[in-house]
Amino acid sequence: MFRFTTIKDYHNNLQSGQTTVVEAVRFFVEAAKGGASLNAWLTIYEDEALQAAKKLDEQIRAGQPLLPLHGVVVGLKDVIAYKNHPLSAASKILENFHSIFDATVVEKLQAAGAIILGRQNCDEFAMGSSNENSAFGPVKNGIDPTRVPGGSSGGSAVAVQMNHCMISLGSDTGGSVRQPADFCGIVGLKPSYGRISRYGLIAYASSFDQIGIFAKSVADAALVLEIIAGPDDFDSTVSELPVPAYSAVANEPTSKKRIAYFKEALEHPSLDPEIKAAIDATIANMRKAGYTVDAVSFDMLDMVVPTYYVLTTAEASSNLSRYDGVKFGHRSSADNNDLTALYKNARSEGFGKEVKRRIMLGTFVLSAGYFDAYFTKAQQIRKLLVDGSVQLFKNYDAVLLPTVPSPAFLIGDHTKDSVAMFLADIYTVYANLVGIPAISIPLYQHSLGLPFGLQIMCAPFEETALLQLSTAIQKIHE
Ligand code: GLN
Repeated sequence: MFRFTTIKDYHNNLQSGQTTVVEAVRFFVEAAKGGASLNAWLTIYEDEALQAAKKLDEQIRAGQPLLPLHGVVVGLKDVIAYKNHPLSAASKILENFHSIFDATVVEKLQAAGAIILGRQNCDEFAMGSSNENSAFGPVKNGIDPTRVPGGSSGGSAVAVQMNHCMISLGSDTGGSVRQPADFCGIVGLKPSYGRISRYGLIAYASSFDQIGIFAKSVADAALVLEIIAGPDDFDSTVSELPVPAYSAVANEPTSKKRIAYFKEALEHPSLDPEIKAAIDATIANMRKAGYTVDAVSFDMLDMVVPTYYVLTTAEASSNLSRYDGVKFGHRSSADNNDLTALYKNARSEGFGKEVKRRIMLGTFVLSAGYFDAYFTKAQQIRKLLVDGSVQLFKNYDAVLLPTVPSPAFLIGDHTKDSVAMFLADIYTVYANLVGIPAISIPLYQHSLGLPFGLQIMCAPFEETALLQLSTAIQKIHE
């Protein structure tokens, strides 16, 4: 019977003939179909995946060397373009839309031998923290289906959690990879802004968005990052910095032992006491293992969520103006007697509640009368945060934080209260505001029977240190 642990083990098993890519694909397709009630997938490309698997098996039989991601079964959040396949951002406005090109990450995955198994449910246009905002219904947490999986990349997290695929790619604008990884008990990595090309990623807030990786292990996340990172002629915001061999070094001991944590974060009234106690214990163990772990004051913590929501809604209101029912997407069958009516009808019918709320909020903060009071102010705070982070990383190699203040909450619990929902992002948005890499690793178990993670952040483009520290902290925790 096929079993998946790590890509490395899988590759050993492929090479020794203990398994085949076809067997792997069949296993994951069965699991995904069996778990259909969780609503993690919008479409599964079963036949195509099996065809691709057969070819990859033939290459092995012919004695060719394995590709770096040979036969690795991957799912894509429904915001990542895959040529000639549906792409909807879980929105009615893009229902029936098919992408006419591949995202750079998809090209790179396929060139490395990966198989795209399907398209995964998410919050509409990646806006949400619980995956209750999809036009195609909520995603349920596989550990407890009465609870949310987190969002916005909830389907991608559940698919890895429940062994429907080996790896998922999601997007992280304010925590949408790390937060669902935390709620689902898996690894979620958001790289530095500019590490991975955003070409072919549906834009939410372009100065925040990054593609991120869900995996069962840090080693697998490192390998996938190594493949999909790096310069791209189609995205000028990608860094030209060379891509290190993350997979080769992720396991090596790190010399980066100066660690900070934010005092205000661990003392925040919204933090579940069990989460605080677990992280306190990890800090104590790290000190015993020879790390310096200092409490650092971060008095801007309560500003990060408002700043994030002013800036991201402003960017979203501009990015989403392209969905007008003219070039593509939903066209209303109502009475479109002039162009304004056509736009209005398409957008009123096509967008869901949360997306509309954010477009209106973003339009408001950009309006002439309020621009300085909201948008300019938020930009100034973002600048202060960036300057502060530069100082911080002069003295420290990494920052430890909870990923989310609570474990997975019940479906419906936060939907009536936007502020409560937004506060779920209090520990994650900082990394996107300042552009640094961050990861959530699944270390802990709550007495409610739910997993939760530890979040680690490093200086820009210090993904190697981030991965090494993750491995080291997992060992200390064992
Ligand atoms: N929960 C945050 C939001 O709704 C983060 C979303 C994301 O990272 N895509 O904006």
